[in-house]
Amino acid sequence: QRSWNRGYASEVKIGGFEGQKQSNGKYLVSLIEGDGIGPEISQSVKDIYSAANVPIDWEPIDVTPVLVDGKTAIPQPAIDSIKRNLVALKGPLATPIGKGHVSLNLTLRRTFNLFANVRPCKSIVGYKTPYDGVDTVLIRENTEGEYSGIEHHVVDGVVQSIKLITREASERVLKYAFQYANAVGKQKVRVVHKATIMKQSDGLFLEIGKELSKQYPEIQFDYELLDNTCLNMVTDPTPYNDKVLVMPNLYGDILSDMCAGLIGGLGLTPSGNIGDKCSIFEAVHGSAPDIAGKALANPTALLFSSIMMLQHMGLNEHATKIQKAIFDTLAEGKYLTGDLGGSAKTHEYAQAIIDKL
Ligand code: NAD
Repeated sequence: QRSWNRGYASEVKIGGFEGQKQSNGKYLVSLIEGDGIGPEISQSVKDIYSAANVPIDWEPIDVTPVLVDGKTAIPQPAIDSIKRNLVALKGPLATPIGKGHVSLNLTLRRTFNLFANVRPCKSIVGYKTPYDGVDTVLIRENTEGEYSGIEHHVVDGVVQSIKLITREASERVLKYAFQYANAVGKQKVRVVHKATIMKQSDGLFLEIGKELSKQYPEIQFDYELLDNTCLNMVTDPTPYNDKVLVMPNLYGDILSDMCAGLIGGLGLTPSGNIGDKCSIFEAVHGSAPDIAGKALANPTALLFSSIMMLQHMGLNEHATKIQKAIFDTLAEGKYLTGDLGGSAKTHEYAQAIIDKL
């Protein structure tokens, strides 16, 4: 069953959501408010959902890391909550640079085997950017590659970070890309790679893409070097609208931020971390410590992520209604946050959306 409505759908039924419906008829969803601007933007989502009568109760969870056998781990009650509810909405989590605990974001992805990171970028009608009509989708391998966390100090002045590519993880994410393209009506899947240089690792990823493409004859398959993709996308992103781009971890992380720039910045771009069982939806941006606590944050990216979540859950009517209210508010342009050139506070923008529901 397709429920793509040209919005920020993750392929809703690929994962086959069977969430926790409680006796009150509402779903229980784990909520990680996050650091920095996280609590402010989470509040906007809660206020809008409550005004829109979305049948969701939030289960707030604390993911402050614990050490288990010397390794960073998510506290057990938080793991249990996400396993029970199967779906979570997550605000940004700050990661210390260099020394300190391993990224909690990475730990979450590994703990729940969230193998595909889906990042759509869609132009906002009424919000002027260099390009109109951008509608790209990028799927990033989410568990290994350059982010496998295997790093060594070899000798003084020499370190090594290992890029790990496995057939298993590559197959999983590439298969998902083909299925996603089918589900959302995109005609093409393109692997973005650097197999010219990373002959073994990207070579394997690309090879698996070619192999799998034979199982999806209805989808056109091709591939492109990452540097060419960057050049072509900033020259004109619209030829990418009919494609699902799929790539190893690091490339997806960087390229998706570039795509975000094409449609107006990080305050607008959502993502879904899709796993076999559980899925976690989060904004692409980080905790924005420079503006935290000042009511300056734009909650749109987290809101759009929550809309991907609603579609994943099959709550499409609510998703469409809230999405329309957001688009209308942005198009009207009266209550934009600072990052979009306006002067509205976070809660004023949220109220403007509520008024349009
Ligand atoms: P960032 O995304 O937090 O901020 C980059 C710039 O964009 C800042 O100027 C910020 O003010 C602005 N910005 C980001 N989100 C915004 C929003 N919603 N509204 C308005 N402006 C917004 O990136 P950073 O400063 O590099 O990272 C800060 C922290 O967040 C780091 O600890 C980093 O590790 C973490 N981080 C977490 C995630 C995640 O949880 N998924 C993702 C990226 C970064």
